Amino acid sequence: MEMNYPKFTPEMKKTHKMLIPNMAPVQFRILIAAMEQQGYTCELLGNCGSQVAENGLKYVHNDTCYPALLVIGQFLDALESGQYDLDHTALVITQTGGGCRASNYIHLLRKALERAGFGQVPVASLNFSGLERDSGFPMTLLLARQLLAAIYYGDLLVTLRAQTVPYELYRGDADAKLEKWLTVICDLIRAGKGYSSREIRSAMPEIAADFASIPVRRTPKVKVGVVGEIYVKYSPLGNNELEKFLESQNCEVNLPGLMGFVQYCAYNPSETARLYGGNFLEKHVSGLVLSYLAGTERVMIDALKKNGYHAPLPFKELTKLADGVIGHGDKMGEGWLLTAEMIELVRSGYENIVCAQPFGCLPNHICGKGMVNKIRELYPTANITPIDYDPSATRVNQENRIKLMLAVGRERLESRADAAEPEAPVLVREALGV
Ligand code: SF4
Repeated sequence: MEMNYPKFTPEMKKTHKMLIPNMAPVQFRILIAAMEQQGYTCELLGNCGSQVAENGLKYVHNDTCYPALLVIGQFLDALESGQYDLDHTALVITQTGGGCRASNYIHLLRKALERAGFGQVPVASLNFSGLERDSGFPMTLLLARQLLAAIYYGDLLVTLRAQTVPYELYRGDADAKLEKWLTVICDLIRAGKGYSSREIRSAMPEIAADFASIPVRRTPKVKVGVVGEIYVKYSPLGNNELEKFLESQNCEVNLPGLMGFVQYCAYNPSETARLYGGNFLEKHVSGLVLSYLAGTERVMIDALKKNGYHAPLPFKELTKLADGVIGHGDKMGEGWLLTAEMIELVRSGYENIVCAQPFGCLPNHICGKGMVNKIRELYPTANITPIDYDPSATRVNQENRIKLMLAVGRERLESRADAAEPEAPVLVREALGV
């Protein structure tokens, strides 16, 4: 039975303002610039506070996964604020097209809108999988290229900032550079530039070199990786400003890129075809998309390495890290990617890990918390803490658990520093008779 809900039609591009939830603030700012270039008027929602979750709980069943509850709550809270012309406002929700519940959030949102008295507000789906054809963004090749470039630029900026902030000599330098480059990139994208391979090849090394010019003192810090369900991993609303909290604890934070998740989504159809069979397109589409993405990935990795930053592994290498630990067929939620990211982090020195797990998220409890013992068996230095995020979990409780993990990280850092104390020169040792 077809539900009677307002569709987002192409004409609304000119008449409606699109509201977008703030999942990954840096990447999403550039994504919005790409949508503006296509003629849409957009706003990234910044409303937060306890009323967001309360609104979600009011209109969505409390068994629903926490990210859905927050996204829906944030939309309802914005619509209730009186700031928007309800007859000219539309909501944007992303759909991965995977097997998990995220692909169905859109229906929960429409039901919640109806019940809250906003039944006239259309919901548009942003996806690469051909879902919601009658109420989605027409995904043109140009828009897809711009969106992918936006995610890569965002990942680069987040990485550069994260590896600079804890070491900068003058507080605020890295944030100022981030803001500067966000403005430059958004302006370029809005002008219909900056997304071609040639332009990315020229821009990324320049951005990385500019960050590398910030004066820093690289004294060793506790290095913390953050993994988990995609929304609570990135969204400050979902994870109670986890990144900010870790920085306040004098840590270097590594938030693996959003593009890894896009590559994972692109990789999975080939795995499905390998396991269960499929047509020619299903078998080969992943390889084509991944090889297109690998070109920009290489540019980003080179730009980071050449300027003295730690760079993530290429996706192809990352897939191998799951071998023997978890099957690639485990692809609900963040699936094997979550496990592979934890392994990559431990191997590259970010052995302290927060695994952000939302309430109601069975797949990520299996691939996150469920893999901790196995990873510790293989990598004894892994110091992983799964943290639950749900409407009843208190921020203070979450932060106290993270502080316990950080205490272990600090102890190890100090003992390594002691072990690395330079040996006294030979003459001194002779004088001391040692
Ligand atoms: S991955 Fe987890 S949070 Fe996301 S839809 Fe699936 S169960 Fe819900």
